Parts: sequence; structure tokens; C-alpha cells
Amino acid sequence: MARILDGARIRNQILAELAPRVQALTADGRPPGLAVVLAGHNPASEIYVRGKVKACRDLGIFSDSLTPPESVSTSELLSTVDQLNARADIDGILVQLPLPKQVDEKRILLAIAPEKDVDGFHPCNVGKLAAGLPGPRACTPAGIIEILKRSGIAIGGKRAVVVGRSDIVGKPVALLLLHEHATVTICHSKTPDLAAVCREADILVAAIGRPAMLTADFIRQGAVVIDVGINRLAKREDVARVFRDSPEKLAAFEAKGSVLVGDVDPIVMAERASAYTPVPGGVGPLTIAMLMSNTVDSAERRRAAAANL
Ligand code: NAP
Repeated sequence: MARILDGARIRNQILAELAPRVQALTADGRPPGLAVVLAGHNPASEIYVRGKVKACRDLGIFSDSLTPPESVSTSELLSTVDQLNARADIDGILVQLPLPKQVDEKRILLAIAPEKDVDGFHPCNVGKLAAGLPGPRACTPAGIIEILKRSGIAIGGKRAVVVGRSDIVGKPVALLLLHEHATVTICHSKTPDLAAVCREADILVAAIGRPAMLTADFIRQGAVVIDVGINRLAKREDVARVFRDSPEKLAAFEAKGSVLVGDVDPIVMAERASAYTPVPGGVGPLTIAMLMSNTVDSAERRRAAAANL
């Protein structure tokens, strides 16, 4: 029987560990502060931001949501970021992506003060990650490492294969696994014979964005599988095919009109993996927990720096 790596349980552990640190910072003057910038109206982004603001509230972190209109310009957003950089009560700045199409996303991310970059996307922090120096790490990749470590899964000396090379997931998780002494291969859409490379993995990380793409051919018996993908199946025949006519999944589809699936075939993953993250409930819950963790780290670092002035 494959072991299910329960992301919600690990998220709750991390949040419980953060709570006394938030209380100590609050008692020492003010709570940690996170600014969330949500430009325009993207329904998925609105859901993510609601989750982040709620997590702040539950933990006692101050959050300030800024909601510039869909028509916002690059220079207007740059000035919003400048103001947040200067605010003493803000320890972390998160600009929710994607931004409206007229906005130069790279310039905005570059404008965030690196010490307030709780997403870990600023080139300074990407450089620190590559060099193995302390600094905020991208939240989803950091969450994947927490899942592995807190589940007692050894990384050192293991063969890890990451499918996907995005700046948000694939590249940073590959670097984090390398720092943990795995032998890492990064694959992408131009990788020949992807299945053969994936079958070499002791730890297989799928961050592709293609529903149930990795099937039996891609998974070595006994591998640990981390399924980062979040894909929505909106057709009944797709739900029936992917979940082999599962009555529960078909009922969920009838009730909600869609069903989530990762990048790995869920039935095959449960049969072949020794341990795996389910979708939903695996990697997803860790992303917000690591955002909270980065915000508390940033608040502590800034507080210590101010005390040493
Ligand atoms: P992305 O930026 O679209 O990157 C996808 C990567 O997959 C690219 O590197 C692409 O290769 C590769 N790819 C696409 N098709 C492929 C194929 N047929 N064979 C091999 N590689 C292929 O996506 P992302 O932002 O990394 O996100 C990946 C998935 O993770 C999505 O489902 C997303 O929703 C999910 N996600 C989940 C969380 C969470 O909290 N759980 C957080 C972030 C993302 P090329 O570079 O060659 O195009």
C-alpha cells in the first residue's frame, strides 16, 4: 500500500510552529505584516489571495490587500511597490501573478525590495538559492522539501527527476533537491524519451500542468511521487477515464461541474509509488504555509536588523 503524504497535516504542523514566533513579534511591538497586491479580476487569483489573507488572519499576521484595477499601468504598480518597500509595518510583499497583460511583470518583481520578497522570485533571492545562501525560497518548492523531510523520506544520495523547468516550481525545486544532496535531472517539453528518464527516479516531481500525463511507464515501482500539478477536469468523459469510472469522483463532478487532478495518473500513482502527494491535499496546502513562514522569517530578520542599528 502506498503511503499518502498528507499536506494538510504538515501545513498544520508548520503553522503551529509559527504561532509562538508571531506572538513573540507581536508582544515585541507589532505583528508581522504582509501586503498582497491583486491587480484586476482573475477568479483563480482571487481565490488564492483569499486563502492567503485568511491564513494571515488565523495566525495573527497583519495583512493589507491592495486591489488596483485591471487597467493599472506598469508605472502605477511600480509606485505601489515603492510605497510598500518603504512601509515599516510591512515585512513581506506579494504581487499575485499573472498581472494584467499591459503590465511589465519582470519590472514589477524586480522592484520589490529583496528583503521583503516573500515569494522568493527576485533575482537576488534566486541567486542566493543557487549559491546555497540563506534567503526566502519560493513557497511551493520549499513546501515540497518540507513534505519530504517531515515524512522521513531521505533525499541525500537519491536520484530525483523533476519534470518542468518553470521559475516558480521546476527550477527552484531542482536546486533545493540538489542542496539536499540528491542527484537531480530536470526534464521539459523537449526531453527525449521522458518516460525512460522518469523511470530512473527514486523521487519523481511532476510540475507540468498536464492532467494525469505521467502514466505507468513513467513511474518506477516504489518511487516517491510528488505531484505538483493542479488541473481541472471539466468533461464527464475525462473524469470517467482518468478515475476509471470512480462513483465518488463522478458524483463530485455532477455536484461541482469539475474535478481536480494532478499531473500524474492518480490510480497508477497509488499502485506503483511507495509514497505520494494526492491532488488535492498534497503539495497545495504547503504553499500558503511556506508564505507564512517566509513572512515571519522576514519580520524577524528586519526586527533584528533594526535592533542592531
Ligand atoms: P509552467 O510554467 O507552465 O511550466 C510547465 C513546465 O512543464 C514547463 O517547463 C514545460 O516545458 C513542461 N512541460 C509541459 N508539457 C510537457 C510535456 N509534454 N513533457 C515534458 N514537460 C512538459 O507551469 P508551473 O507554473 O511550473 O506549474 C506546473 C503545475 O503545477 C501546474 O499544474 C500548476 O497549476 C501547478 N502548481 C501548483 C502549485 C501548488 O501550490 N500546488 C503551485 C504552483 C503551480 P517547457 O519549459 O519546455 O515548455
